[in-house]
Amino acid sequence: MHYVEKKRSKSKVAIVRVENGRVKEAVVKALELIGGLPENLVPGKKVLIKPNFIRSEPPSTGTTTDFRLIRAIVEILRERGIKDIIVGEASGNQYDTEEIYRFLKIRDWFPDVDIIDLDQDEIISVKIEGAKALKEVGIARKALEADFIISLPILKTHNSTLITLGMKNMMGVLPQREKWKMHLSGLHKALVDLNRIVKPHLVIVDGIIGQEGLGPTMGKPVEMNLLIAGYDVVAVDSVGSAVMDIPPAKIKHLVCAEKEGLGTSNLGKIEVVGERIENVKRHFKRPYGKIIFYLTGIIQYKIGVFLLDKFNYDIRPFLRDFASFHLPKPKLKKKLCKGTKKCIEVCPENAIKFNKNYPKIDYKKCTGCMACYEQCPEQAFKISRFPKWWLRLTT
Ligand code: SF4
Repeated sequence: MHYVEKKRSKSKVAIVRVENGRVKEAVVKALELIGGLPENLVPGKKVLIKPNFIRSEPPSTGTTTDFRLIRAIVEILRERGIKDIIVGEASGNQYDTEEIYRFLKIRDWFPDVDIIDLDQDEIISVKIEGAKALKEVGIARKALEADFIISLPILKTHNSTLITLGMKNMMGVLPQREKWKMHLSGLHKALVDLNRIVKPHLVIVDGIIGQEGLGPTMGKPVEMNLLIAGYDVVAVDSVGSAVMDIPPAKIKHLVCAEKEGLGTSNLGKIEVVGERIENVKRHFKRPYGKIIFYLTGIIQYKIGVFLLDKFNYDIRPFLRDFASFHLPKPKLKKKLCKGTKKCIEVCPENAIKFNKNYPKIDYKKCTGCMACYEQCPEQAFKISRFPKWWLRLTT
């Protein structure tokens, strides 16, 4: 990897509000506040944009990076004459990245950008000198070859690491087996080791809609309308953590990263520009059942690695089916419905009919695109993560 970094004395992190959905304006402002893009990020450089696409959920659920943020970055890079831009992801644990790209219609959104499934890229084995947990790891070639990595995580809590921001987002440059290996090596230290090799050069946290509670996929969306940006991933993550009202000192991988010289987690040593943390802070609910998630994860990862290594059997399709029950579905809040029929108009699957003055969803047809939830003028839908059969019985 050819680094294009600008030396900065103190880690600067910008917090910017997104006013009335004007995302690009907020990105431009955030970049200005942190000193602009590096001067040596010039045409000819390869840029990898690393969003957070864990599974088939739209950005309104707080699970997936907002496309407007990706679009803004792409436009700013193009304005600078940079053509070699990749959007790359290897999705979360058991999920299929190509399937997620299809669900999100990501290639329709970005017809002029290379959209890469990093899970299918050539994997290069890298030895990590001085590693604390992850001595060797297989990383997607495209990530190693990038001159400049822009990480676009979401402001959310996480059931294993308490927060998931810029450092954790880099797990998405690893194929599945290596992700399992990271969990089994001790995730906090392994994250620090991974970030020694693929440390993002710029992090912009998508805090437009964050997620609290059982993140990274089963929590509740939280509308914050914020971006948090900076060049020091540890500092950005620490500010993000503080914005969620979680002291960075409680985040093991941030503390370990600072000790290893990857960046600053001490808020007193970070220059926060734009909004003040106190003015935007909101208490995010913590994930519950961390021990249960940890133990089921370890069992799942051990079985996954064993079956893959011994029998070349990929357990992921099975796990994917098992986990599909908590994919988001809309559920009507009857009290709020005023019968505008907007949901019927916007549903691409023709899955909503009017029945006794209320919309009725055919959950067999519903894909969980959440267009009805997003566009109902009365906000009469909520996100449900119960199985479809249960929703059919109770609505
Ligand atoms: S009912 Fe239609 S619009 Fe609503 S989530 Fe399902 S498919 Fe999308």
